[in-house]
Amino acid sequence: MSGTDGKKILDGRDGLAVYLRYLEENVPNFMLARGLSSSGAPSERDMPSDNGAPDREMLLAELREEARACVRCALSATRTQVVFGEGNPAATLMFVGEGPGADEDATGRPFVGRAGELLTKMIGAMGFERQEVYIANIVKCRPPGNRVPDDGERSACLPFLHRQIALVSPRTVVLLGQTAAASLLGQTGGISRLRGKEARLSLFPRIRVMPTYHPAYLLRNPSAKAEVWEDLKQVMAWLGKERP
Ligand code: SF4
Repeated sequence: MSGTDGKKILDGRDGLAVYLRYLEENVPNFMLARGLSSSGAPSERDMPSDNGAPDREMLLAELREEARACVRCALSATRTQVVFGEGNPAATLMFVGEGPGADEDATGRPFVGRAGELLTKMIGAMGFERQEVYIANIVKCRPPGNRVPDDGERSACLPFLHRQIALVSPRTVVLLGQTAAASLLGQTGGISRLRGKEARLSLFPRIRVMPTYHPAYLLRNPSAKAEVWEDLKQVMAWLGKERP
């Protein structure tokens, strides 16, 4: 698949499926990294986490460049920078939030404001360094005034996130807040009902998913931190991670 052909296909309705097939056929270790050679146990992956990292890194860099030029939705007109996402290209753990705020729009990095500081602490409490995990958002450009991205903006941007998940191939994804949970799980229930319950992504059924509250919500409602910690401890158990 040439670059031009690939872009044409990816712009189409079935782009994601074609792209995943392309990855599976062309990226060494990709099938293994996704656990597709196993009988189907979703959280079992018997390989070092850095296998295939150079390929993932290169493909993520290409995807980042594609996002930086993206004008698929109206948020492109008001953004300062595209906030693609960052972290370990072969992370076992991925966090997904809603979208960039003012600090992220200014720096081009996800979760760098006060909510980001709290997320970094949460990651540390789980026994990870921030650079060990992968962090991304549902939309890559800041909605004006930090409003919730609308359905059209989310739909336009989701293929980027799907491709990030496919490339990083984490064992677990933590969905931060209502927008992330609703967008990826397709469920309309409030985050207070979804949080703490294991979920699955229809496109990536082997990845264990934990919806929980967004760090920005925790800044406004510190008493909810205990519930989030319960959710994160469950994720740690899935990953076999000891409390530091
Ligand atoms: S939010 Fe996503 S779809 Fe919209 S312009 Fe930015 S990168 Fe493109």
